[in-house]
Amino acid sequence: MTDSLTPAARLKQHFSYRVINQVRQVIDLWRHLPAQNWAANAMADFTLTVEKLVRFAQRFEAAQHEKLGRQLLSVLATIPAGHIPDSTQLAGLNQIIINLSKTALRHTDSKPAEALIPEKKPVYIALSDTDHALVMAEQMQYFGLRPELQRTAEDFTQALSRRHPAAVVLDHDFSGPGQGMELARQLQQSRETPLPVLFTCRHCTPTLEQRLQALRTGGQGFYDESDVHSLISHLERLLDPIPATAFKILIVDDSRAQATHAAGILNKAGMITQAANDPLQVMDVLAGFTPDLILMDMYMPGCNGMELAKVIRQQRQYINLPIIYLSGEEDRQRQLAAMAEGGDDFLTKPVDPGHLLATVKNRVLRARQLQNLIACDSLTGLLNHTHLLGALQDAVRHADGAPVSFVMIDIDHFKQVNDVYGHPVGDAVIRNLSLFLRQSLRKSDPIGRYGGEEFAIVLPDATAAQAAQILEDIRVNFARLIHDGADLRVTFSCGIAEWHGQSVSELVTETDQALYIAKRSGRNQICTADQPEMAAEPTDLP
Ligand code: GH3
Ligand code: MG
Ligand code: MG
Repeated sequence: MTDSLTPAARLKQHFSYRVINQVRQVIDLWRHLPAQNWAANAMADFTLTVEKLVRFAQRFEAAQHEKLGRQLLSVLATIPAGHIPDSTQLAGLNQIIINLSKTALRHTDSKPAEALIPEKKPVYIALSDTDHALVMAEQMQYFGLRPELQRTAEDFTQALSRRHPAAVVLDHDFSGPGQGMELARQLQQSRETPLPVLFTCRHCTPTLEQRLQALRTGGQGFYDESDVHSLISHLERLLDPIPATAFKILIVDDSRAQATHAAGILNKAGMITQAANDPLQVMDVLAGFTPDLILMDMYMPGCNGMELAKVIRQQRQYINLPIIYLSGEEDRQRQLAAMAEGGDDFLTKPVDPGHLLATVKNRVLRARQLQNLIACDSLTGLLNHTHLLGALQDAVRHADGAPVSFVMIDIDHFKQVNDVYGHPVGDAVIRNLSLFLRQSLRKSDPIGRYGGEEFAIVLPDATAAQAAQILEDIRVNFARLIHDGADLRVTFSCGIAEWHGQSVSELVTETDQALYIAKRSGRNQICTADQPEMAAEPTDLP
């Protein structure tokens, strides 16, 4: 592909690579700032790297990157030297960094740019069963991972001495029963930070002993060899270039001094905080700030923390929101009573900063994991119907003048696939399509399993015409994919509609109608809903 480009286009690609590489450096430095305690020299480095990004982006006409780079600099300029950013500054910087990480993966430039990015670190695959290793490697490539097969223990050790991989997928019994584990132990010995290892085994349920042993050799998970999908999801999370959104903590405390103290500790660790000093305003703050966790004082005027926790818990959307009491109350009985009223943990003031951070971090991580499980379909890992529609609602609400398109996909003649090849092959096709969509779209584009063999996608920042172009690429490539060994190819039909101010349910209906037309017109094609005429001047009035 690259060879067919004109020299000017190739030069442009090269530049876009330089800019994207600089974006990655900015994101990388940003991630490490909390661990460096926002030290003045680390902040100065960060600022210099952003300045360089702005210069590159300007020179190479990457307007979006330049704009975001300048936004970063303008927030950075408000932080006095030697200070850590306050919560507002943190929130601002975080949002810009997230926008920046999305621009590095735009539909239009991600492929050529990705292709030019030098050498993503490989993922080593060391499985006893070579056929299985090949299948796994092929699947990983759909996800943009760089698998590298290691056939023997010697290959593996030599490869390690040449370069360190991003992660290792290792058969528990690679090169002999239990030998995989031994290999992992050796490889971690010479390392300061352990290399992430995902262990696999064949048709097995690992015992607790095996799991413990795996854990002690840097094992981050234990998968059945056939469960390639879960394994790849794990790798995706592990190697995701988009930083996780910063933790948002709501501090409810009538004492401003106490709230500021806790906020300082959390901000320093890169968390965004908001304080509510009046407990009666908490409901409004909750809806606007959407925190990951609440730190709750117990005794406040107006209403106490236990009552407040109870009221919050009575609302469906906050059932899983972690609430941690942070109070001077030392009476164990009262603490337990408070926990019974919807609290998850109890910390006593004055709290040790390390203790506070560890508790908050663990609770938020667990809550996010849980939320993820609730929102995602178990076969594909995509959003489920409800959450996909929620994502569409959000996209429309935050469109702010930018286009939003909605896409619905339905696999063609899928009943025949099930009838001829069996239900498990049908399931595999559904999983393949979901892998394919995830790999072909930006990480930030919500993709959902809408129903049995139906999928839906929200494409923010894309007009219907742009969406159609993106989906056309996916349609053509997916139709080429061979499922189940050698002889099965599958196509899909697709409907697209663009949001133009109508309600979400109208948008869905229009998309569904477009999909229906694509089916009726012969399947394996994309149909875009008609755009309503631009509001014309009324001419038929007398
Ligand atoms: P069309 O081209 O008109 O879409 O034809 P179709 O056969 O795909 O359409 P239809 O909606 O009639 O059939 C969909 C089939 O998908 C019926 C159902 O058994 C099957 N299906 C739904 N969910 C799953 C699933 O999770 N796994 C498998 N294997 N099959 C499923
Ligand atoms: Mg259907
Ligand atoms: Mg169908």
